[in-house]
Amino acid sequence: MKTPIVVSGAGPAGALLATYLGRQGHQVTVYESRPDLRAQDIDAGRSINLALATRGVVPLIDIGVVDRVDAITIPMRGRMVHAPEEPSPELQPYGSKPHEVIHSVSRSDLNAILLDAAEATGNVAINFDAEITAVDFEASRLGFSDGAEAEFGLIFGADGAGSPVRTAIADAQHCEWRTDWLDHDYKELTLPPGPDNQHAIEPHALHIWPRGEFMLIALANPGGDFTVTLFAPTATFESLDTAARVDAFFGEHFSDFVPLVPDLVEQFFVNPTGRLGTIRANGWSFEDRAVILGDAAHAIVPFHGQGMNAAMESARALDRHLQATPHDVAGAFGRFEAERKPSTEAIADMALDNYIEMRAGVVDDNYLARRALALELEQRHPSRISPRYNMVMFSTMPYAEAKQRAAAQAEIIASALADPSLDVDALVAALPPLPDLDPLADPDALSV
Ligand SMILES: Cc1cc2nc3c(=O)[nH]c(=O)nc-3n(C[C@H](O)[C@H](O)[C@H](O)COP(=O)(O)OP(=O)(O)OC[C@H]3O[C@@H](n4cnc5c(N)ncnc54)[C@H](O)[C@@H]3O)c2cc1C
Repeated sequence: MKTPIVVSGAGPAGALLATYLGRQGHQVTVYESRPDLRAQDIDAGRSINLALATRGVVPLIDIGVVDRVDAITIPMRGRMVHAPEEPSPELQPYGSKPHEVIHSVSRSDLNAILLDAAEATGNVAINFDAEITAVDFEASRLGFSDGAEAEFGLIFGADGAGSPVRTAIADAQHCEWRTDWLDHDYKELTLPPGPDNQHAIEPHALHIWPRGEFMLIALANPGGDFTVTLFAPTATFESLDTAARVDAFFGEHFSDFVPLVPDLVEQFFVNPTGRLGTIRANGWSFEDRAVILGDAAHAIVPFHGQGMNAAMESARALDRHLQATPHDVAGAFGRFEAERKPSTEAIADMALDNYIEMRAGVVDDNYLARRALALELEQRHPSRISPRYNMVMFSTMPYAEAKQRAAAQAEIIASALADPSLDVDALVAALPPLPDLDPLADPDALSV
């Protein structure tokens, strides 16, 4: 590989990739535009969390930090659906197998563990407050926002949705990309702990308040609080411009939630509203000089809880390709994109679909009938059928394959519901057998 080797960005993808490269013995310099989050008083801020699933867990096993991460996660066994007009919420379990849980984890605590792991290789130096603003391939120079410069041979762009490395590859006419903005935005809120710092609602579930066009979700944090997110059309956010309107909106749609968050209106106006989009890029690399991964290459909307999981899976795949052909780095980059692109497109589509499932489907009788039949068929044919959600969240099957299988399964289920005389078991038995869906069953086999 051309040296100096640089990683731009120390989020999940950059910190993990630096760890993989450092473990291979490469000397790596990471530049991260933000301060070192390990030196911040995290308790003083809001605890923003996300859902970690199998595709993210597998790399953590690889690099030997899964126990550290396990100690700070909260398992979620299903969706706790707060349907309108229902007196109490209902748990829809994700699956029946022990590994079919997702894990609520603090974004910054997980990132801190990855930064420690990168440094522990002894080969990775991380520079914080170092924002890359220019990547000059001809001069092999990087420019920074404070006017500093540095040399590079090869740069890995793990610098998120606004990636300057992606821009540099595009300027070298090797990358085309676009952002498809969603016309829905989001806002994060905090549901505080109850008495004695206990969780005020069930912590071992992902709470959803589905309301058709919009929804609230909540994931527990270890300190007893929950990170809550409102997803709603941009126009809805625009209409919520006074305290009275916010109060009325939550009172009308989320009446069981309102008493849990006494400073709801204050939080609503203090916390920012975020945009959501999908990045679809082609041409992720430039010769053996640069490649992008994670959100820089394939940012997606958050409704499948897979953006970070996919970013980590990409870092693992890139490491595998580089190890397979260490003397053909440009070829490794091309093969990495060829492998990942169909799958990142597939998860981008499935994440968009899942928004409709979460905000409307989970209380739709048709959806519930389809899901009940899918779970029943899974019991009868565990080697042929698995719900789409489970293939995405609890396996490492390529996302593209999960999408394709899910479409075939959906067709069978829809036909069976439309015509109960159909021999549905025969149709399911004709599906190709599933690969081993439980990569966590034998973690030792995963270590690289
Ligand atoms: C509301 C919301 C909820 C989400 N929930 C989930 C979830 O439950 N599960 C899940 O898997 N995913 C979730 N995601 C997606 C997840 O946050 C991203 O997919 C993930 O953070 C991508 O990791 P990354 O390392 O590629 O990019 P990032 O996390 O964006 O990291 C990029 C890093 O690069 C740094 N950087 C940027 N520009 C520069 C520069 N010019 N120079 C140097 N450094 C730079 C940034 O400071 C940052 O640290 C969610 C996203 C949103 C918006």
